[in-house]
Amino acid sequence: MAKQMSCADVVPGCDYTAWAETEEELMELVVEHAKMAHGIQEITPELQEQVQAAIRDV
Ligand SMILES: [Zn+2]
Repeated sequence: MAKQMSCADVVPGCDYTAWAETEEELMELVVEHAKMAHGIQEITPELQEQVQAAIRDV
């Protein structure tokens, strides 16, 4: 089973979707995207929680 996360669940209006084999890989992609697309330099525990809540098994 793979993991998928829609950025729109955390940042409304963003059409980015991350997809990876593991949650760890997915978090790396999301962190990278957050930096590049949203200027988010630091993933706070609160933000990480939001991201993890948005992760789906696909
Ligand atoms: Zn985004």
